[in-house]
Amino acid sequence: MSRGPDYILKIDGLASPDDRQENQQQRSVQKRPWIAVNWQCCSVYSRIYRNRAGSAYEGRCPKCGTQAKATIGSGGTNNRFFNAG
Ligand SMILES: [Zn+2]
Repeated sequence: MSRGPDYILKIDGLASPDDRQENQQQRSVQKRPWIAVNWQCCSVYSRIYRNRAGSAYEGRCPKCGTQAKATIGSGGTNNRFFNAG
């Protein structure tokens, strides 16, 4: 009869909690809300992302650098698409 081990060492359980939290934070950054912008100045599309305050979407034209801001909330836009430039 073979005897089982007295203890089981779970390496995964030791290292993962902090890593998992970090990954979640990174993922939430990647999931930042964005809207698609039609930059009329250069006839290109790109995404602009919500600012830290969550009050507007802000970004720049990838070609000429024109700034755009789409306010969120009352009086703002709820559209996923936005014309700028
Ligand atoms: Zn442009």
